[in-house]
Amino acid sequence: MKENKARRVERAAEIVEQLKKEYPDADCSLTYSSAHRLLVATILSAQCTDHRVNQVTPGLFNKYPTPSDFAYSDVNELAKDIHSCGYHNQKARSIQGSCLKIVEEYNGQVPDTLDDLIKLPGVGRKTANCVLGQYYGVPSLVIDTHMVRIMNLLGLTRSKDPKKIEFELMDIFEEKDWVKLTHLIIDHGRVVCIARRPQCGECVLSDLCPSSTV
Ligand code: SF4
Repeated sequence: MKENKARRVERAAEIVEQLKKEYPDADCSLTYSSAHRLLVATILSAQCTDHRVNQVTPGLFNKYPTPSDFAYSDVNELAKDIHSCGYHNQKARSIQGSCLKIVEEYNGQVPDTLDDLIKLPGVGRKTANCVLGQYYGVPSLVIDTHMVRIMNLLGLTRSKDPKKIEFELMDIFEEKDWVKLTHLIIDHGRVVCIARRPQCGECVLSDLCPSSTV
């Protein structure tokens, strides 16, 4: 039987409550001290672990302290500096291009709206929402691979399209929980609802999850 919206909203709230109890310290694991540094770290984190990014960024931010330093850098040298994060040429172009636009069109300030952020080269909704929620405190949902997979398992979407999922989840989760939700789901995906071998027997969501095997 198809679940109605009221029940989905109720279930979404119960899921958040359980996950908050289970992962009280869930938070962004990237290290940053300013908006442009978070933007750079988030670009580097695509297809790379946050741990690896955090190993690279201290030296990187020492060498390129400001958005201008990235904007007017030699992109080949920048690519070498971020080589260990993977996709280094593409990421170097995104970082340099974004910082150039920030310096030349936004007076050196990282924009604080989704519309402006997604106009930066190589910045999609995921990166933009991360900066908005994490740095500017704007309620926003980051839809990464954990969110796509686990929200499907939880029966809160049937889509694989991150943008569609973002809007569906905005409709059922409380705005105050949006930023935290991604971190809760990432922790849950790493520890319990692991891809290919979900540990349903140990999951605090098993009573709330239609994919539970227990
Ligand atoms: S019950 Fe199983 S499938 Fe559902 S969220 Fe928990 S671990 Fe994942």
